[in-house]
Amino acid sequence: MAKQQHIQHASTQNETDAFRDRIATVDEKGKRKWVYAHKTRGKLFNIRTWVSWGFFILFFALPFFRYKGRPLFLFNIPEAKFILFGRVFWPQDFFIFGITMITGIVFIILFTAAFGRLFCGWVCPQTIFMEMLFRKIEFAIEGDAPAQKLLDKGPWNRDKVVKKTTKHFVFFLLSFIVSNFFLAYIIGMDELLKIIREPASQHIGGLSSIVIFSGVFYGVFSYFREQACTVICPYGRLQGVLLDRNSMIVAYDYKRGEPRGKFRKQKAAELAPVPGDCIDCFQCVKVCPTGIDIRNGTQMECVGCTSCIDACNKMMDATGREKGLIRYASENGIAEGKKLKFTGRMKFYTVLLVVLTSLLTALLVSRKDVDGTILRAGGMLYQERGADSVSNLYNIKIINKTVHDVSLSLKLENMPGSIIEAEGKDIIVKREGQGKGSFFIVLPRHIIETRKTKLKIGVYEGDHKITTLGTNFMGPAAR
Ligand code: SF4
Ligand code: SF4
Repeated sequence: MAKQQHIQHASTQNETDAFRDRIATVDEKGKRKWVYAHKTRGKLFNIRTWVSWGFFILFFALPFFRYKGRPLFLFNIPEAKFILFGRVFWPQDFFIFGITMITGIVFIILFTAAFGRLFCGWVCPQTIFMEMLFRKIEFAIEGDAPAQKLLDKGPWNRDKVVKKTTKHFVFFLLSFIVSNFFLAYIIGMDELLKIIREPASQHIGGLSSIVIFSGVFYGVFSYFREQACTVICPYGRLQGVLLDRNSMIVAYDYKRGEPRGKFRKQKAAELAPVPGDCIDCFQCVKVCPTGIDIRNGTQMECVGCTSCIDACNKMMDATGREKGLIRYASENGIAEGKKLKFTGRMKFYTVLLVVLTSLLTALLVSRKDVDGTILRAGGMLYQERGADSVSNLYNIKIINKTVHDVSLSLKLENMPGSIIEAEGKDIIVKREGQGKGSFFIVLPRHIIETRKTKLKIGVYEGDHKITTLGTNFMGPAAR
């Protein structure tokens, strides 16, 4: 019976597989089909609403937070300066950036293989802004989907002009606000406030960025919408290779649902052959923001927003059937008629993701605020200093990633000997800047046993040791 159902579903799908030839929002002529998504209500939508509030609070509050005088986060791509959790990352920290990128890619692959598009549906900024802000405003001004359709088809009367003007004004205003905060993540809140307070002529670049970002956000949320997920987003396009039959997805239980048929009241139902649980009400299609029918199976356009789960659960409730005809499940789980479990594979991937994230966090936290390199001056071997000492000349480069100037002195840590600074004073390095200097290391001849001696040099700010740097000492061969 189960096998028959599967074959039937598969054949139904094959007959109608034309939906895979083009995306749901484009017609045969290649013209855009506007998606009028209906309002969603339900348990998952309520949780998503709470998650979106958390996102909005973080998005709009984080640019105001400071740590040790710096923004908490900054992604200044033009100046190649990045701040994560208040710590500055310079081009010199490129290896950390590289490791972050690799970890990020591995994370995305493993996370998607195990949990599908959970990110897209729950925390992707595009989905949150579109579904939890702009679409809600659209519902408030133009009404639910049928009213919007009517309005669009209707003549340009006073009502339509007022509603459309209000909606687009609010959309642009919101896009303008979002773009200001977006820019704050790039240049910092202080710089943004300068752009706002100081004469426009002094901030042409910043103002142009705000205008461009506002235009892009307005275009995306008022017109481009779901196309950003289905056509542009590289993560969305990669779903085909990242997902497999064990990945958790929003799925229609065709075994339970097929053959679908219109819902009949008790008496008629007793006379009719028993249909599957899907009553073909199309509620799952109507609420879908990407305009697809999840009953056709996994599709690239599905952003995992769970609206169809809520809509279907409501219908199952209303018709006295068990909820979960559309639910989080894996393709194999549906085929085997099993509920979604936290499988061994998911556990393994989760542990791996935790390990990767912990490693990266440890790397970020242990990164030094003041760092540098010491190299022996080129073209010289060693200098004899009287009969009993030998010296080498060194160049030191220091990078200061803190927000205060530092005055640094050097001490030889693992050998008796002395350091003579060429300039005769400490090395001063400006805040978030670089400094350099030269110095001699003098060692007593009797402790030199090989041509190359490894040295450890402590870098001190006052009595506080900041870091230890290593270098080599070239001496005469042992006698
Ligand atoms: S199919 Fe369901 S989960 Fe996927 S985008 Fe449409 S409504 Fe959201
Ligand atoms: S909402 Fe549920 S019952 Fe209605 S068409 Fe979709 S899957 Fe079938």
